[in-house]
Order: sequence, then C-alpha cells, then structure tokens
Amino acid sequence: MPKADRVSQRPKEHVLDAFSPPEKPWKTRFRCKLCGVCVASRNVKATKWSIWGAQLERDGDGKLKRWDALKPTAHIFYGTRMLDVDDKLGKWSGYENASQCLARPRSGPD
Ligand SMILES: [Zn+2]
Repeated sequence: MPKADRVSQRPKEHVLDAFSPPEKPWKTRFRCKLCGVCVASRNVKATKWSIWGAQLERDGDGKLKRWDALKPTAHIFYGTRMLDVDDKLGKWSGYENASQCLARPRSGPD
C-alpha cells in the first residue's frame, strides 16, 4: 500500500468513478472510467487507502506502470490474497499495524 502522502486524497474525477456500497457507506471504491476495473478503495472509518495492485495497468513486460509511485510498503488483507508474494514486505490479515501480522518485514538486499 503506498504511503498516504504519495497518493492524492482526491482521485481524479475525470478518470475514476466512485461508488460507496449502501451497506458500508464509509467505504468508497474507485474504478477506471475507460475499462471499468476497480483500482483502489478508501475507508474513512479506518482513514486508509487500499490500492488494488493486481488490477493496475502493466507494460509489455508485465510490470506495473509507474512502479516508483505505486510500489507497496506492505501487503494488506493478505489472508485472502490472489497469489503468494515472495518479497520482504510485511503481510497483514487486514490493515498494516492494525491487524494480525502474517509475515514480518525483512531487511537486507533484494
Ligand atoms: Zn482502465
């Protein structure tokens, strides 16, 4: 999840649509106006943003575009992950430092 200071607090309305589920009005999901894919969500109760990394645009090599701006600092909701991630970032059952830690961050060379 990118640090909050690297993400605009207001997504660009000309490229994203916003939707708040009636049963969870404190959450807002953002989807691309061009392809309809959800790419992020905001939880105002938890004051957290989640970036849906698997949904983001990739280049011809399969790498996420704008990696430097989007690279995660932790993996959240890792218990319901789409795939295992073998990196040094912490992995959490919910939000970082507010849920069960499933794997502690590791240090050292990549
Ligand atoms: Zn799109």
